[in-house]
Amino acid sequence: MVLTLGARKARLDPGYNCGVKGLVRKLLIELKEDPDREGLVRTPERVEKALTFLTSGYDAVVADVINGALFTVDYSEMVIVKDVDFYSLCEHHLLPFFGKCHVAYIPNGRVIGLSKIPRLVDMFARRLQIQERMTNQIAETIREAIDPLGVAVVVEATHLCMSMRGVEKQNSFAVTSAMLGTFRENHRTRSEFLELIRRGSYVQRGASQGTGPDCVDE
Ligand code: ZN
Repeated sequence: MVLTLGARKARLDPGYNCGVKGLVRKLLIELKEDPDREGLVRTPERVEKALTFLTSGYDAVVADVINGALFTVDYSEMVIVKDVDFYSLCEHHLLPFFGKCHVAYIPNGRVIGLSKIPRLVDMFARRLQIQERMTNQIAETIREAIDPLGVAVVVEATHLCMSMRGVEKQNSFAVTSAMLGTFRENHRTRSEFLELIRRGSYVQRGASQGTGPDCVDE
């Protein structure tokens, strides 16, 4: 077999047959591909790099993400950060699910710097996830950080493990929510939040509760 220059270089790489790179190479062979052909020769390296980034949320620490951006304020109206884009990987298939996250809370003397909310979302999205757990983790983290009167998180996502595989296509768009404190106890507060995020968003009336399993465990 005549190897391309790229393939010869790849073989000199110490990670050629081990670690994530080695595993991806083995996977390509299992998929009946030729890992030494030009287009694939650097694929193991690229996949490793991509997966390292897409799972970098495991290494993130809440305190570092918030980085001291907690402020004492005399403000007790709802704070909303809506349409936060996120990209995650479903833990059942390692395929992407992505969409928008809406976060609200009612301060009880303390607020979080607004720019920190999307970073918290990224921290939990960049892990192997299920949508329900990610939704809860974002809400719980904000509750623990500033002990507000209430926290609400709604996540709307498309799951490629369902839409690409043609499984239950009609449910491939899932909405999950976590309501804590005032948002759980007070119907008007919850409705106000849902009304505010509904404007210009995909959330349909009545879809404020989780709509079942976010991906099929098969
Ligand atoms: Zn899945």
